[in-house]
Amino acid sequence: MTKKDSTKEENSFSPQLAAQHVLEKDVSEAPSRLLVIDDDESVRSLLKDLLEESGYDVKAASCGEEALRMIRMATYDIIVTDLRLTGMHGLEVIKEVKAIDPGIDVVVMTGYASVNSAVESMKAGAVDYITKPFNSDQIKMVVKKNLERREFQRLAQEREFYKVLSSIDGLTELYNYRYLHQYLKIELEREKRYKRHLSLIMLDIDDFKRYNDQYGHLVGDLVLKRLASILKNATRGCDVLCRYGGEEFAVVLPETNKEEAIIVCERIRSSIEKTDMIDEKGTEVGHIRATLGLASFPIDADNKDDLIENADRALYQGKKSGKNCIFIFGAREKCNTA
Ligand code: GH3
Ligand code: MG
Ligand code: MG
Repeated sequence: MTKKDSTKEENSFSPQLAAQHVLEKDVSEAPSRLLVIDDDESVRSLLKDLLEESGYDVKAASCGEEALRMIRMATYDIIVTDLRLTGMHGLEVIKEVKAIDPGIDVVVMTGYASVNSAVESMKAGAVDYITKPFNSDQIKMVVKKNLERREFQRLAQEREFYKVLSSIDGLTELYNYRYLHQYLKIELEREKRYKRHLSLIMLDIDDFKRYNDQYGHLVGDLVLKRLASILKNATRGCDVLCRYGGEEFAVVLPETNKEEAIIVCERIRSSIEKTDMIDEKGTEVGHIRATLGLASFPIDADNKDDLIENADRALYQGKKSGKNCIFIFGAREKCNTA
């Protein structure tokens, strides 16, 4: 993957992650699932009883091999394992567990209260340890503390997730109107401070109403998604792509002056024109064209609202000049890029 691609990857929103997230949320509302691993039957059943008293769903395994089979079959939140086991050693168990499911937290019990075994366990991926002999309050407290930490982490991820979601357009997965305004406000401050340029392109599909009438709204939706990927391919990873609304898009080119931005505009315009649109069944569904309006900071505007308005005015002028063209704010006629 190139650097350009990886930047886009970071900025992109994944519906798969969204689904996984919702799933995890449902799971979190069920009792926490624990797995106790100890080869000593009396310790195993004591731990199981103790932790069940706290309301957890507790399963038990007598060796590492049995535990790994169970982990492959079902999900667990926390594993409490002895380090000295018959068969696989506890350290090996930790490594295998983390390889199967990195989301499981492992708490180790060590009979020989040495710092070394605790350190080795942590290195292997354990989150906490408890030394034997322990009393019932100790083990309950360690499990409770780690479950609470997991819950905090989940909530933090959830907050981050909804923050991202509120900035993303659901159809094209580009940024939305809200994000554009937030981003431009901050970015223009930076460009002002460092005396740099920034260009804004407003783009609107030509005669899209007619296109929808001819091919149907669902094909129209596919075309909007296709347009998002055309925009991604025609720009850099640091450029910000937004669906401004309906069939109107905004492209922010940070640290880009007007002359450089004109080249990007033409690349976008011609890629759109050249792309054969294809529906879900692979049938050709014609072409679209688009008109682009360009305004640059600081020469055309020194704040976000004026910059957006001026790029929009240029777009309007482009529509009046016959569409499928680039119009630069302040120009008398459409841009001749040929
Ligand atoms: P112009 O060249 O002047 O921009 O003409 P236009 O037909 O593209 O513009 P107009 O504003 O008259 O119509 C916009 C069309 O865009 C009508 C609407 O159905 C379509 N549109 C807006 N949002 C969506 C969407 O999410 N999906 C689909 N399929 N169409 C959409
Ligand atoms: Mg339009
Ligand atoms: Mg429009």
